[in-house]
Amino acid sequence: MPKYFINNHFSLKINNISELFALLARSNNIIVTTHSNPDGDAIGSSLALYHYLSGIGKNVSVIVPNKYPEFISWLPGNEHIIVLEEERELAKSAFTGAEFIFCLDYNAIHRSGSLQDLLKLSDVPKMMIDHHPEPETEAFEFLYTTTQTSSTAEMIYDFITEIASDQAITKDIATCLYVGIMTDTGSFSFACNRPETFQVTAKLLQSGIDAEWIHRKVYDTFSEDRLRLLGFSLSEKLVVRLEFATAYIALSRKDLDRFNFQVGDTEGIVNYALSIKGIVMAVLLTERKGKIRLSFRSKGPFSVNEIAKNHFNGGGHRNAAGGDAYESLEKAIAQLEELLVVYKEPLLNTDDS
Ligand code: 5GP
Ligand code: MN
Repeated sequence: MPKYFINNHFSLKINNISELFALLARSNNIIVTTHSNPDGDAIGSSLALYHYLSGIGKNVSVIVPNKYPEFISWLPGNEHIIVLEEERELAKSAFTGAEFIFCLDYNAIHRSGSLQDLLKLSDVPKMMIDHHPEPETEAFEFLYTTTQTSSTAEMIYDFITEIASDQAITKDIATCLYVGIMTDTGSFSFACNRPETFQVTAKLLQSGIDAEWIHRKVYDTFSEDRLRLLGFSLSEKLVVRLEFATAYIALSRKDLDRFNFQVGDTEGIVNYALSIKGIVMAVLLTERKGKIRLSFRSKGPFSVNEIAKNHFNGGGHRNAAGGDAYESLEKAIAQLEELLVVYKEPLLNTDDS
């Protein structure tokens, strides 16, 4: 199967990848977008593409739907990011003159949250570059999509080096891509069994980046409140259901307020629940405005994507997924407990020894 999918139900007369690259070369005003609640891969991929495209003279606007955590707000080029929910007029005016739109790290228009109306209204060609399963093919003129990759950042490396060469990977681009790969693999602990991930990472290191410093910038910049929230979650809120190979943590609005919750403060908590021996699925439930957010992780073949998609209006990858419940925290916990009974067999049959 060819790597790039060109959707010919659109009227564009593009037949192959070199014609797509030529279209891109002719486009001067380019928008780069990503999914709501942007993570390290979303921001890293977007800024890497920003640096490459602006480096070859394009006028590039990176537009993200909403705010993202402090620990990824230091990447080179961060000051150029337009947050739609904070700078709506600026974002809208960028769409007015756009000639090409990139959609990075999401597989369906609705995943772009508050950006989706602008995307749906725009008749500019859109290209998805993404690593989630089941892409919404019909909404994009061009797609580079696979699940056989650690991250979108790894695909952006591939895309840039295919248009140009390894030489195009500057230190700034490499820093952004490294953040994407590192965060989407949990510092090379999952989604990293393919040698290509390490080959790309080695190339990034050759551009002179400081991987140790980058790791510290992302993982060692907790506020005291964030660390205490983690401690509280583990000592007071962790529920272990070994009989279902599941552990979960539920944080109410009151719990979050107590620790002066900031965007990103609950990031990573769910992984501690998964680190218990014998646990196959871990879930973090947090009470947000008008909904309960669920963050799922799993080990091995057990698919939390299926759980998020079928029961919590969400989705994601086999071992990392998210969703929402539109009810009280207590009801969401009860729903989860009921599902454990339903999924007991596959949960217990996941041999991870
Ligand atoms: P997290 O638990 O870190 O928020 O999300 C883990 C992964 O699940 C993300 O990388 C993303 O791929 C996916 N994900 C999170 N929330 C949603 C959601 O609401 N819908 C879908 N389709 N995927 C989600
Ligand atoms: Mn990703």
